[in-house]
Amino acid sequence: MGISIQIVQREGWDLIGYEGPIDAEAEVHLAQLLPKLGNHVVFNFRNTGTVNSCGVRSWINFMRELQKTPRQIVFQECTGDIVMQINMIPSFKGTATIQSVYGAYVCDACGHEDTVLFEAGKTLPESNDVELPPRPCPECGAQMELAEMEEEYFAFLAA
Ligand SMILES: [Zn+2]
Repeated sequence: MGISIQIVQREGWDLIGYEGPIDAEAEVHLAQLLPKLGNHVVFNFRNTGTVNSCGVRSWINFMRELQKTPRQIVFQECTGDIVMQINMIPSFKGTATIQSVYGAYVCDACGHEDTVLFEAGKTLPESNDVELPPRPCPECGAQMELAEMEEEYFAFLAA
């Protein structure tokens, strides 16, 4: 699967849809993207694939260049892979605001799996030591759990 980056302009914001993996190919695509971006940028990671170490380096360099000009940067629909990078490497996110992240829920009783979008100001907890609201399994009614440790998965929300 290759990389394809979509740009949509809306109300003064550049909405960037990054499709495909963040890997060795990312550097070229991100270098082409940089001069096209204004001062308000939203990255949507809904269709972003896996992230490898080569890609991480390219992404961090890209963020560094991007932040040389004061900008408002938002991360939207971060997948588990992106959340992992954000938690491990502070410069992956830089000054970006996290607007929403996906979380995977599993039911231990029947194995049912659900993906939930946590949105800032709504369902995203305010810190990583807040307990998530109960989520009954739609299949069997048992309590579903986040697939990752809450405290670790939401580490980026720690004060
Ligand atoms: Zn269940």
